[in-house]
Amino acid sequence: MTRSLGGSELAATIRHDASVAAAALTEMGIQPKLAVVLATADESTAWYVRSIAGAAKRTGILCDVVDLGPDATTEQIHSTLVDLGHDPDVHGVILQTPLPKGTDLDILREAITPDKDIDGANPVSLGRLIAHLPAFAPATAQAVLALLDFHDVDLPGKTATVVGRSTVVGIPAAHLLVQRDATVTVCHRHTADLIAGVRSADIVVVAAGIPGLITAEHIADGAIVIDVGTTATDDGELLGDVDAASVAGRAGALTPVPGGVGPVTTALLLNHTVDAATTQSARRRAEKTMKLVGLPGND
Ligand code: ADP
Repeated sequence: MTRSLGGSELAATIRHDASVAAAALTEMGIQPKLAVVLATADESTAWYVRSIAGAAKRTGILCDVVDLGPDATTEQIHSTLVDLGHDPDVHGVILQTPLPKGTDLDILREAITPDKDIDGANPVSLGRLIAHLPAFAPATAQAVLALLDFHDVDLPGKTATVVGRSTVVGIPAAHLLVQRDATVTVCHRHTADLIAGVRSADIVVVAAGIPGLITAEHIADGAIVIDVGTTATDDGELLGDVDAASVAGRAGALTPVPGGVGPVTTALLLNHTVDAATTQSARRRAEKTMKLVGLPGND
């Protein structure tokens, strides 16, 4: 029997905690606010952003979707991100991909203020995460670990294989697993023998964006499989990277798509926004106090 590792219950718990913290901050006059910068006509991306905005509102978090349109330039997106970085009422910033062809994602990621980088997109956040310094982890990578914890999957000493080495999912997920004492292999498009790389793992995390890439032949008996893939079909169906019918009965557990990693990721983005608001308001209070007593502040 393959256990289904659903994410809805965990997501609801995270959202509940975030809403309690958001209400407490709002009571103090600081309502957490998230800004999502969007520059695409892609309908499935627009749907995803609407779902984040709706969840934010239900959690007591303000959410501005800054839609720059599919023709936005690097300069326009860059200046929007810089302005949001300076806006004291905005605590969290997401730069939603895909971006228009020809825009420079590397430059834009660096324009997200690390304090507000609630999806860990700025390379500074990834560097700090790997160096065990406080930083927001990319929400999807953190959702993988949160799901494993929620479903009581033991990590120390286990072998884990991550399929995919993107800086937003595969690499941070691999680092989080290492930090939790798993022994980690990373496979990618140049891996010569994907079956051998995955077949030895107790825990498999798949983030390649290729529907059905992983089948029963890749999976060890009883392995725990986390499917991060969400490829949208033309009819709006979401497809995972794991062929669920194929691995059923072989894997010990598998996350569903949709309903697995996705809802936990969205909930963590809200949780990070509330954390960011807490940190920023505490820092502003400290800076005010410094000014009152005549000590130099940070600004
Ligand atoms: P995401 O951000 O969702 O992880 P990307 O498109 O940025 O998606 O990255 C896809 C990752 O999947 C890359 O690291 C790539 O090397 C990996 N990948 C693509 N094809 C294969 C394959 N056939 N076998 C293993 N890994 C693959």
